[in-house]
Amino acid sequence: MTSAYIHIPFCEQICYYCDFNKVFIEGQPVDDYVNLLIEEFRLWNERETILPLKSIYIGGGTPTALSVKQFEVLFDGIRNYLPLRRGGEFTIECNPNNATNDLLTCFKRNNVNRLSFGVQSFNDDLLKKIGRIHRCDTVYKAINLAEQIGFHNISIDLIYRLPNQTLEDFQDSLTKALELDLPHYAIYSLILEQKTVFYNLMRQGKLPLPSEDIEADMFEMAIESMENAGKQHYEISNFAQAGFQSTHNKAYWNGEDYYGFGAGAHGLLDGTRYQNLGPINHYMEPLQKHELPIFNTLPLSQKMKIEEFFFLGLRQMEGVSISLFEKKFGQSIGELYGDEISQLLEKDLITLDGDHLALTRRGIFLGNDVFSEFMLLDR
Ligand code: SF4
Repeated sequence: MTSAYIHIPFCEQICYYCDFNKVFIEGQPVDDYVNLLIEEFRLWNERETILPLKSIYIGGGTPTALSVKQFEVLFDGIRNYLPLRRGGEFTIECNPNNATNDLLTCFKRNNVNRLSFGVQSFNDDLLKKIGRIHRCDTVYKAINLAEQIGFHNISIDLIYRLPNQTLEDFQDSLTKALELDLPHYAIYSLILEQKTVFYNLMRQGKLPLPSEDIEADMFEMAIESMENAGKQHYEISNFAQAGFQSTHNKAYWNGEDYYGFGAGAHGLLDGTRYQNLGPINHYMEPLQKHELPIFNTLPLSQKMKIEEFFFLGLRQMEGVSISLFEKKFGQSIGELYGDEISQLLEKDLITLDGDHLALTRRGIFLGNDVFSEFMLLDR
């Protein structure tokens, strides 16, 4: 079964760490963009029958920068062209600042059943320092309101290793996040990406980031706090109560098919990756001529599929199934990776439990070292 990602590339502020495909919303052709997204749904439907989807995810940018009216238009388009199967997951990323009664009620009315709030920290000073416009009290109001309106599947994102962040500060954010007792948490370390304000500050030696040791302690703290609170660590950066793992993200990690709609979005269909044009005007131009805005396609070779099977599969704590690998690729895992697997087992970076290979606690912290062992290079 297939999923769908819909990208809304508009933001009301540009955060200092962000390298996503987004623009400042003021003066942007938002109505046209929404109409052309629907044209993209329609064109895909002309190309092939879109069967009921297992999940729809509207991400950004800041999807909630759209007005209720713009969302109503978008939801109409989704209803017409992107059927969601019964019990399917429908997520929207929300900025706490935009979570008004009107907007959340509109989501509820239109069958959205999961909200993902970009919270990042419960420290207002840190939020200011990273360029976010919301503050802690807005987070509480937003989540309270969402629960009153009837949303029970709620996730929040937190980021650690922020400039000048201390272990105590991060523990405080974790505690406050857990006091909300939500069913899902996503917790990431700050990554410095090129062309961001933070990257430039780092180059000038003006970004006081916590050391790598503190970063590792923060990660450990996150895992312990979440697990002690009954939130299962099911993917390197994700924690959930039973029954609340993200269907949409799991589809990515399991290498399943998904459509990508919107500027710069990418998809994976029948073993081929494709990517849409990124700049908004470039994305909109072909759609105005009733053509799909695909910028490049890449049929995945067997080698790439095998590598992705491990890179993505091992991110999940349950690991990868050996029998599934052999069924999918018609090759013996031992013949292909026997030496690498023995070494990783010896270094206590992975475990072999029945049919499953998975990261150990030590392997979680050294994930990249593990993943690189599964690169096939010239083989
Ligand atoms: S982090 Fe989110 S809100 Fe901030 S600029 Fe990036 S996409 Fe926009």
